[in-house]
Amino acid sequence: MPCYLCGARPSDPAGGGEPWKRGVRRERQVLICPDCLVSRDWKADLDRCGCCRSTFLISRLGEIECHGCGEVRPQAVSAVEPPRVDAALTNEVEQALSRVLSGLAGPRVRR
Ligand SMILES: [Zn+2]
Ligand SMILES: [Zn+2]
Repeated sequence: MPCYLCGARPSDPAGGGEPWKRGVRRERQVLICPDCLVSRDWKADLDRCGCCRSTFLISRLGEIECHGCGEVRPQAVSAVEPPRVDAALTNEVEQALSRVLSGLAGPRVRR
């Protein structure tokens, strides 16, 4: 995962070098490279724990865990993948759309 601020990728994923900061932004796991840690106001951007205000959050499947106090909360629904559009709903929308379109075209055709 690249740094979410500058797009840099960890040079050595196996470890070593400057530590990368893990955090959660808008319910999603992000990484911040050592350069951005010192040069950017990344704390203002990250989600915070509701209990201890720590930015040391880890996003897991469906939940956010705080490594400051151990609080685990469910991930907000908005971050979860959008549900697949229902085929019936799509049909309805298409029908409504075609009704609108034929309504618009109607007067011209009759003239
Ligand atoms: Zn960076
Ligand atoms: Zn906490």
